[in-house]
Amino acid sequence: GAPGSFVHTFWPGRVVFGAGTLAQVGDEVAALGVRRVLVVATRSARAVADAVEQQLGDRFTGRIDGVTQHVPTELADAARTTAREANADAIVAIGGGSAIGLAKAVALTSAAEVVVVAVPTTYAGSEMTPVWGETSGGSKTTGVDARVLPRVVVYDSMLSQGLPVKVTAASVANAMAHCVEAVWTPKADPITEVIAVEGLRALSAGLRAVLVEPEDLEARGTLLYGACLAGSALATAGTGLHHKLCHLLGGTYNLPHAETHAAVLPQVARVKAPTVPQSAARLAVALGGDEADGGLARELFQLFQRAGLAVSLRELGLRREQVDEATDRFGESAEVVQAILVRAWDGVRP
Ligand code: NAD
Repeated sequence: GAPGSFVHTFWPGRVVFGAGTLAQVGDEVAALGVRRVLVVATRSARAVADAVEQQLGDRFTGRIDGVTQHVPTELADAARTTAREANADAIVAIGGGSAIGLAKAVALTSAAEVVVVAVPTTYAGSEMTPVWGETSGGSKTTGVDARVLPRVVVYDSMLSQGLPVKVTAASVANAMAHCVEAVWTPKADPITEVIAVEGLRALSAGLRAVLVEPEDLEARGTLLYGACLAGSALATAGTGLHHKLCHLLGGTYNLPHAETHAAVLPQVARVKAPTVPQSAARLAVALGGDEADGGLARELFQLFQRAGLAVSLRELGLRREQVDEATDRFGESAEVVQAILVRAWDGVRP
């Protein structure tokens, strides 16, 4: 039937997608009319960064190698100084959410405009969002600002072809969380849902194929396509209970970001799916699991387990008493949150 009333804001941006598109980064940067470009690259992308430097020619003004998770303020400050001294008007970020996050931190605070071009090598989806984050003194601050949204995203499936299977699976779980939660956040809308369902389908199909053949280039492309859609869904739906829980657990107990999603998502889905039954059913079908009537939560749990991910917070190092502490810290919906975290800690099959 026709949808009820809703609001959907489209974020601007250009996506260049395909195997071998890395070769187009130089032309894309030139088309933006920028003159002084900084390159930020994750450690594993050094060779890729060398290639980009060559393409940039005279526009290249410097490079920041080596990024760490969650954008520590010290690292962001150093990058800001480098950008200011180089008088940079653009940053090409090559890597996962950490490299792109660092570029966003610079774009957010620069006096003069600094545009971001993103070349993702994981499936976290940050490149499609106007969300920034920065961590200091063990606590992470996040926000939304149009200045940090990359102008151009170049998705080249060859760049993630060698991403280890474990890192791949965790990163996919992170992306799946964007798609799944997008149907029940307060800002959920029918356009976002179409994007989220197709994103989840691609992520599931790509992950299943990569588990069989890790260097399958077509599957890597399917995963990147899913990551692009997942990031778009996050950008318009924003976050809900699941992301907030993962944010708290990651920030307070230093649990690994992407892996935490795999342990928590099935348990949140178990509680939230019944509140949006039609959307949850579409997502469950998109996952394409063996159990036709397994339901969203169980399908997610089984897929993560099959991918070799930890499905319990205990395995990730959380102590049982920290479940109660985290519930207190979360502050709202204590009963629901406690039930989710207890099951996530134990890794109970939904
Ligand atoms: P990451 O960027 O730290 O990358 C994960 C690991 O993979 C790193 O060790 C990295 O060196 C390695 N790696 C990356 N590409 C590789 C490749 N092609 N081959 C081999 N190794 C490779 O982490 P991530 O999971 O991409 O992103 C997580 C971070 O992004 C978190 O800080 C999270 O909060 C943030 N995030 C932000 C948004 C947003 O919208 N702002 C969205 C999702 C995630």
